[in-house]
Amino acid sequence: NPALTAAGAREWLQRFATAVDEHAAELTDLDRPIGDSDHGVNLQRGTRAVLAALEAADPPTPGAALTKAGSTLVSTVGGASGPLFGTLLRRTGKALGDSGSVDGAALATGLRAGLDAVVALGGAQVGDATLVDALAPAVEALEAGGSAAEAAEAAERGAASTDDLVARKGRASYLGDRGTGHRDPGAVSIALLFAALAGSGAG
Ligand code: ADP
Ligand code: MG
Ligand code: MG
Repeated sequence: NPALTAAGAREWLQRFATAVDEHAAELTDLDRPIGDSDHGVNLQRGTRAVLAALEAADPPTPGAALTKAGSTLVSTVGGASGPLFGTLLRRTGKALGDSGSVDGAALATGLRAGLDAVVALGGAQVGDATLVDALAPAVEALEAGGSAAEAAEAAERGAASTDDLVARKGRASYLGDRGTGHRDPGAVSIALLFAALAGSGAG
């Protein structure tokens, strides 16, 4: 895994924004039967604001870039996904500190801090049919020394695992047992985030 630099973090977030644009309609469709049909729109608003904020701030380190991205998501996305994705990136960025270049092990440690913050904020564990079902296995893959591509595959499998789960957090939980048979949109977005990391050649 090549080291993540400030430019690499920018490329990662740029690729994520592009993926969110490409998949916005699909993400919103996933949110229709079990939510309120806004997940793609929510994330798109957030990632566009992130790109503008990075352009304006030109953060000097990967940690600063992720921290700025996270704060921007928290402040621009109303809805559960803004604070959750925002907390993930902000806490990961803070954990990376002010190093100019972050290796795979340090990125895994940073993302673990981000995952822990997401769990502390939202209270969801693996198996609750949320984005945690994609995020936790992706972080574990990196902690085990896996590549970003392997983390992306783990996230994809985790997202697919939500098909048969009963949602216990978020809007989908209002449906109870009737919520099964649907893939969680936030978990699919997390898979896009790790695919973007793999595509950027960093991590
Ligand atoms: P909202 O539900 O407010 O409309 P979004 O549609 O943008 O927000 O995001 C929904 C996604 O947020 C869900 O698919 C799920 O992955 C995630 N989510 C919701 N609540 C939680 C939670 N408590 N913990 C973890 N993830 C959650
Ligand atoms: Mg929604
Ligand atoms: Mg909503």
